[in-house]
Amino acid sequence: MRAVTVRPGVANSLNLVEDQPEPAAEEGPVLVEALAVGICGTDHEIIAGEYGEAPPGADRLVIGHESLGRVIEDPSGTVKPGDLVAGIVRHPDPVPCPNCAVGEWDMCRNGQYTEHGIKALPGFARDRWRIEPRFAVALDPALAQLGVLLEPTSVVAKAWDHIERIGHRAEWQPQTVLVTGAGPIGLLAALLGTQRGLTVHVLDLATDGPKPELVAGLGATYHAVPVNDLPFEPDVVIECTGAPTVVLDVMCKAGPTGIVCLAGVSSGGRSIDFDAGALNRALVLENNVVFGSVNANRRHWNMAAQALARADQVWLESLITRRVPVNRYADAYTPGPDDIKVVLEFAS
Ligand SMILES: [Zn+2]
Repeated sequence: MRAVTVRPGVANSLNLVEDQPEPAAEEGPVLVEALAVGICGTDHEIIAGEYGEAPPGADRLVIGHESLGRVIEDPSGTVKPGDLVAGIVRHPDPVPCPNCAVGEWDMCRNGQYTEHGIKALPGFARDRWRIEPRFAVALDPALAQLGVLLEPTSVVAKAWDHIERIGHRAEWQPQTVLVTGAGPIGLLAALLGTQRGLTVHVLDLATDGPKPELVAGLGATYHAVPVNDLPFEPDVVIECTGAPTVVLDVMCKAGPTGIVCLAGVSSGGRSIDFDAGALNRALVLENNVVFGSVNANRRHWNMAAQALARADQVWLESLITRRVPVNRYADAYTPGPDDIKVVLEFAS
């Protein structure tokens, strides 16, 4: 069968293998026919050789962690043949740490977790894959091809879950949300904000392309100005750019009792002259919280499935700006100027 693979640590080793072995039985009883795989920044880092780890004993890693497939068989009876499913990316570490021991692998303490298509587990960019029932998430059949958005939605479902847990440390009536970065994660974070009835603002550098219209389509307000020029103090910020100046600016911009969720990964190596004392003073005197958020556990995947089922399907479809057949995989993994989400398509 076909599989999109890399040699981890080797830049531009991306390759479509035609003779990939069928998925091994020990990967799990649920056998799935791949329909689509979404592509994100992590894939580009893996292809650049900056990230990624092959399974033990292998020299190549099948990539792809944003999955959508159709069940071929499940002897355990958890899902049925024909069901649409996505595979949960992260698996608990083998020790396990206190968090992984209770299913909170997104909060793994020792870093020994594994991840499909990223870290020591084969990914989903292959014609067929297998998974254990507890890592298979069934999707509303009405979602059809939009189910490939479940993985990035799970990441923002976790961010919102933790924002709400932190908010309820005291009386909390948030009204205004600022999302920085209008890529797929930022747009999905904004979607979940509007689903909560909040007033959502999205800030991005782009002044043309699809982003302003996608934000307007949510009933949210688009801004292409510096954070400091925004005429309001948000109650909640979800920072999705990882850009150091934006990160610092939103921490200062949040209003009293504000919650700032950092969900973008910075590349590091850039230093900025910054008044840490003033930031500390603002955070302490306003009871503000800044926290990081990554990945998602099963509960968040279920929340994400519900959020997608409630969303406007036409709007979700417009997030997917290119669909590329697997045989043209190199095109799919070459970024385009107006890309939001690019999807690699397998079986039709
Ligand atoms: Zn762990």
